[in-house]
Amino acid sequence: MVRSISILGCTGSIGRQTAAVAEHLGIRVAALTANRKIDLLEQQARLFKPSFVAVYDEEAAKLFKIAVADTEIRVGSGIEGLIEAATLSESDCVVTAVSGAVGLKPTLAAIDERKHIALANKETLVCAGELVMARAKEKGAEIVPVDSEHSAIFQCLTGRGKGELQKILLTGSGGPFRGKKREELEDITPEQAVRHPNWSMGAKISVDSSTLMNKGLEFVEAMHLFGVAPDDIQVVIHPQSVIHSMVELVDGTVIAQLGVPDMGLPIQLALTWPERKPSMFEHLDFWKLRDLSFEEPDLTNFPCLRLAMDCARRGGTAPCVMSAANEVAVHKFLRHELGYNRIYDAAAEAVERVGVVPASDLETILEADLAARAFVRQNF
Ligand code: MG
Repeated sequence: MVRSISILGCTGSIGRQTAAVAEHLGIRVAALTANRKIDLLEQQARLFKPSFVAVYDEEAAKLFKIAVADTEIRVGSGIEGLIEAATLSESDCVVTAVSGAVGLKPTLAAIDERKHIALANKETLVCAGELVMARAKEKGAEIVPVDSEHSAIFQCLTGRGKGELQKILLTGSGGPFRGKKREELEDITPEQAVRHPNWSMGAKISVDSSTLMNKGLEFVEAMHLFGVAPDDIQVVIHPQSVIHSMVELVDGTVIAQLGVPDMGLPIQLALTWPERKPSMFEHLDFWKLRDLSFEEPDLTNFPCLRLAMDCARRGGTAPCVMSAANEVAVHKFLRHELGYNRIYDAAAEAVERVGVVPASDLETILEADLAARAFVRQNF
């Protein structure tokens, strides 16, 4: 089990839950980073007394420094601040809970320092999966996924040899609009889209769950994390979110991981791995569980998932361009500046128009990310 952690993105949904789990387990929180929610950040800083706090936004960092002037806490800012938090010698584990491509450089820096990585930042693997996994292997840094599906697959695969896996069964609830036609989704509002039936999550990921883009990003994430081809992953819609994913082995055996749909569980496991500790979360009661049902994903009415699977097959910067374009489009949608169905249009057009090149180095990837963002800002 880890003793001391840095939480990157501590004021977001995953960050706050990580802080609660750390408190429960008695793990020292040595560093915190946030974008600009400094009121909550100050509360967390006063509670956990970290040695170092970074605020990404420069102006907010100045205000935060004044707010905690009566404490011993060192304050940093910008991407350098995030990298310092990720490489702090006091921390043996880094929880990457930031949203977006900003997580990439700090994650690579943490890998270089051979930190234990509890990975909750999807974009890191979607944009730079090959690069990140190769670097982790070279440096001997362990990456334990926090995303519930990947945590499930990781648990199911532990102890299995590479040749034993037939395919990964990536499950998803289907989101709040499962069963609807694309035409019916035209006027969906941000308020409707963020209301997920099973999981409590941040706004961006909730919208992604409703469009099935989240499942698409997870598809790419799974390819890289577990070193499998796109054809080795099958998406299965499972509305109850009790099974968090499964693996099918070559003899036909299927191993599944089940639990209550609470992100606290995979967060805790990423911190205690390979051990298990009592948790503060509810346990499943099989007498009360009714039906567990399964269906095929609807790629016609939820084209974001099909797009992501196509991008996974194309490789190179395709997933990065798609993800960055989607991120900008979702934020526009959340600000009521873009219609719900236009989120897909923005991501799909970006992939066609920005172009796809091999994702050979970090600069190429970051350039593709910026180009995709600019494309959506200008054209949508
Ligand atoms: Mg997930």
